[in-house]
Amino acid sequence: MQLVDSHCHLDDEQFHSDREQVIQRARDAGLKYMLAIGTGDGPPDLETAIRLADQYPFIFATAGIHPNDVQKSNPQTFEHLRALVQHPKVIAIGEIGLDYHWGVPPEAQLPVFRKQLEIAAEGRMPIVIHTRDAWDDTLDVLRAFWTPTGLPCVMHCFTGDADHAKQCLDLGFTLSFGGVSTFPKSAEIREAARITPSDRLLIETDSPYLAPVPHRGKRNEPSFVTHTAEKLAEVRGVSLAELAAQTTANFERIFQMNPDLPR
Ligand SMILES: [Zn+2]
Ligand SMILES: [Zn+2]
Repeated sequence: MQLVDSHCHLDDEQFHSDREQVIQRARDAGLKYMLAIGTGDGPPDLETAIRLADQYPFIFATAGIHPNDVQKSNPQTFEHLRALVQHPKVIAIGEIGLDYHWGVPPEAQLPVFRKQLEIAAEGRMPIVIHTRDAWDDTLDVLRAFWTPTGLPCVMHCFTGDADHAKQCLDLGFTLSFGGVSTFPKSAEIREAARITPSDRLLIETDSPYLAPVPHRGKRNEPSFVTHTAEKLAEVRGVSLAELAAQTTANFERIFQMNPDLPR
């Protein structure tokens, strides 16, 4: 059985003391790939995930400016990002989007979000979206500026209900579920996961954050994606092996992975 962690922050300082072991545990747990998210502490460094991806054949990277870091960006940041799209291990722009929870003004976030959509579209790259307390604005921007490209869009750490899921699915997006979907009170998220078509489903950890049950409250790590996979298999009424095969195939298709790559 092979699984993929579609979203992890392996560069995080919480992994500084034992990153090697964390990565080894992920491999031992059957993870075929990990997608390291390259937002780090924000600009000017956009290469935190690329440095890891360069060291391991099974780790791939995104690059992008997180909505909470947009005020650190400037025109040079966008030139830098445009260049990184060409890096062979960069398979998406992300995580980008809108976050109205932490007080960064929307008028600062919106132009940076749109600029990154433009760069991703030019490079024919999929995008990984972060949205928090900004549902309508995020979908409005994506509907206007991304759906017309026909390129893939992954809604990371999907925590909406079935109606939110339908809105995204209607736009052609893919939903990526993480540890929150295993929490006892997350019945609405599990309903969203239940109705998601099998070819539009991904799983992730968002580690070191949001560890799934039974590790809730502790540091999360990519190997724990197995717990989310087990829960989603149960919710969807399929075997764990089938859920793993579906989500791994989806990852390879959406991010245009070459199946002949070494791993
Ligand atoms: Zn996020
Ligand atoms: Zn994240």
